[in-house]
Formats: sequence, C-alpha cells, structure tokens
Amino acid sequence: MASTTLTSFLGRLNGPWHKRALQAFLVVVLAHWAEHLVQAYQVYVLKWPLHQARGVLGQAFPWLVHSEVLHYGYALIMLVGIWTLLPGFVGRSRTWWVVALVIQFWHHIEHALLQGQVIAGRTLFGAAAPTSIVQLWIPRVELHLFYNTLVFIPMVVAMYYHVFPGAPDAARMRCSCAFHPNAATT
Ligand SMILES: [Zn+2]
Repeated sequence: MASTTLTSFLGRLNGPWHKRALQAFLVVVLAHWAEHLVQAYQVYVLKWPLHQARGVLGQAFPWLVHSEVLHYGYALIMLVGIWTLLPGFVGRSRTWWVVALVIQFWHHIEHALLQGQVIAGRTLFGAAAPTSIVQLWIPRVELHLFYNTLVFIPMVVAMYYHVFPGAPDAARMRCSCAFHPNAATT
C-alpha cells in the first residue's frame, strides 16, 4: 500500500504538480545560492574575516553556517529534489537535468565527507578543520560557491528546454510546464 501511495505521489509530482514543485524548488535553490554569493561578497569586497562572513541568514543565526550537519542536510535535500523531479523531464531537458544530478551527487559526497569528519571527531589529511577532497586545491568558500554555480547552470538549461521543448519532447511531456504561446487565445 505504502509503495502504491508513493508511486502515485511521485506520478503527480512529475505530472500535474511538476510546474509548482519546480517553481518551489527553484526558489529554495536560488535563496541558497544567493547566500553563497553574499558570503563571497563579504569576504572579497567587504574584506570581512572568514568567520564573520556568514551570508544573510547566518548573521542572525551563526549556527546555520557553522553547523556541518545543516550543510550536509541541504546538499542531501537538493540531491533528493533533483532526483525526485527527474521523471518529469523528457528528451533534451532530461539530459541537462541528469548532468545537474551527477554534479550534485558529487557535491553531496563532499559534504558527506565533511559530516563524517565531525562525527568521527578527526579530520582528513591532518587538516585543522573538516576538509573535503577538492578542498585540497580550492578553499571552502570559493569551492562551494563554485559547486552551487556548477549545479545551477545545467538546471537552468534543463528548465529552459523543459519550458520551451521541441515538438517531439512536448508530445511526451505529462506536466504543464511547457509554455504555449497560443494558450491565451484559445
Ligand atoms: Zn514539468
């Protein structure tokens, strides 16, 4: 019974609810990405010390930025969100959405490594703070701004092809995301 309910829920999420779900997901992703942009601005333009540069929400709630489990939780939510909304994408848009999924999967692994170091109580590579693999070459603030940008680009391309699909893709879509220029007149 539970699996039937889940299947029909996922079916609706990728059918009649796909448009609303995608819009809600986009708002969350944009808000998070904006926080990373603000943090980079605080570090590079305002020259704030790294520990003080906590984006917007982090100014009021410093634990948001300093809690590794929340970073991991967000990366996981994003991975699940991309994966859950994948079936609604067909054709060319699906290819780009899968690219975003693969990049976010790796981003999530990096956060899992960070989280694991907090749980284990020791850091990798003899570092002073929890350190992920690519962080060996790129510092954390830059790296996660880069990751969030890198995931966002294929998401935007996928959404573009999803909203403006070619005729063969449009015929296979089960959601209402596609823009129909004639819809207002018919
Ligand atoms: Zn859709």
